[in-house]
Amino acid sequence: MEFDAYRTLVEKHRELILEVERYLWKHPETGFREWNTTEYLAGIFEAAGYTLHMAGDIPGFYTDLDTGRPGPRILIMGEMDALLAPNHPEAVNGCAHACGHHAQCAELVGAALALKEPGALDGLCGSIRFMAVPAEELIEVSFRESLRQKGVIHYLGGKVEYLYRGYMDGCDIAYLLHATNSRSEDFNCYNSNGCITKEVTYKGVAAHAGGSPQSGVNALYAASLGLQAVNAIRETFLDSDHVRVHPIMTSGGSSVNIIPSEATLSTFIRGASLESIRENNRKVTRALAGAAVSLGAKVTVHDRPGYAPLLNDPGIVEAAGEIAVRLLGADRVNMHKPWGSGSTDMGDLSCVMRTFHPHIGGASGRSHGDDYRITDPELTCVTGAVIEVLLAVELLKDGAARARQILAGPPLRYPDKAAYFADMDSFFRDSELVTYDENRICIEF
Ligand SMILES: [Zn+2]
Ligand SMILES: [Zn+2]
Repeated sequence: MEFDAYRTLVEKHRELILEVERYLWKHPETGFREWNTTEYLAGIFEAAGYTLHMAGDIPGFYTDLDTGRPGPRILIMGEMDALLAPNHPEAVNGCAHACGHHAQCAELVGAALALKEPGALDGLCGSIRFMAVPAEELIEVSFRESLRQKGVIHYLGGKVEYLYRGYMDGCDIAYLLHATNSRSEDFNCYNSNGCITKEVTYKGVAAHAGGSPQSGVNALYAASLGLQAVNAIRETFLDSDHVRVHPIMTSGGSSVNIIPSEATLSTFIRGASLESIRENNRKVTRALAGAAVSLGAKVTVHDRPGYAPLLNDPGIVEAAGEIAVRLLGADRVNMHKPWGSGSTDMGDLSCVMRTFHPHIGGASGRSHGDDYRITDPELTCVTGAVIEVLLAVELLKDGAARARQILAGPPLRYPDKAAYFADMDSFFRDSELVTYDENRICIEF
């Protein structure tokens, strides 16, 4: 089957692809709560004749399309989660798809339905796994931690959890197409930071704020000093490490006439390598502890592994770039953009399999902002699905020659899944940082 024929197969499902984008935009759900999204997408896949493996206790599913001929397994994903964006004019229940993940689900549907058409797999070998994945945005950390404490999940990110559960075992090449608001480069790609999450609780002593503040220890002031101390170490971050530390204060007292006995912060520490994250997290922890000491407060930290840095596979970048240039023209394609300072759990997959996380245009407004929306769903979703299909075809045609060439490339960062998880697990930490003796203060960082 020729290039344009695959395009026709996708365009046959154009109306449905656009309908999925509209429906999910109007029904946003945040990570590990995408139950309606799962049900909606599952209905579409089942109607198309797919048999689904449901995650069950968390949202999402996967399904396999086998060519009947041995070969590599390609994993194509669509992220399902929205963001908390209560000020977005089209927010529903305080949520909006302000990162455009709903468009990925529309692309996924388009690719899955096109490749199910008669003749679509002729000349291909291996298999394709389609996966609707939950929880890419690393938000509502306390909620996810409660799922972790209950043993429902083991990691905070949807793909990391799916990887841990074995849903990606046997997959050789993984990709998805994320929406972008880029106006000049409709198809682009870049590597990006990893991150960890850090929840911080300052504990002080409550007392009458007017009558007897001398009896209290102000946890809010300790937390405020902690924020300032973190700001003071920013000049020590190396440019080449692309460090981003962006704390928010999540609580700072309950009544105005009581010295706050508790104040909480939440932050990420992002960096270009796990080493830089580890090193700079140590400095952040030390700064937070020093602030507690200044006030005589206590402080505890709860560190959790977030996402590993994303390294796109050069071979897939090249293959997809060729397809995008053919579809969109060279002036609209940039496969080698500068390093990105955001993070994604595609980074975790890139530690253990050949991974590709490009961006396709059609969005407008600020990413994660209150004006974000998909303004050209034809480009994002329909053309996006065409690219997903054409990339699978390019990888699996001619005895999967291109996929095999990619798989024979330089070694991945970890020899296997176990080694990757062992490294990520080293970031788990629950510690009280400061202890007070009569004449001595002990700081652990
Ligand atoms: Zn996002
Ligand atoms: Zn996103």
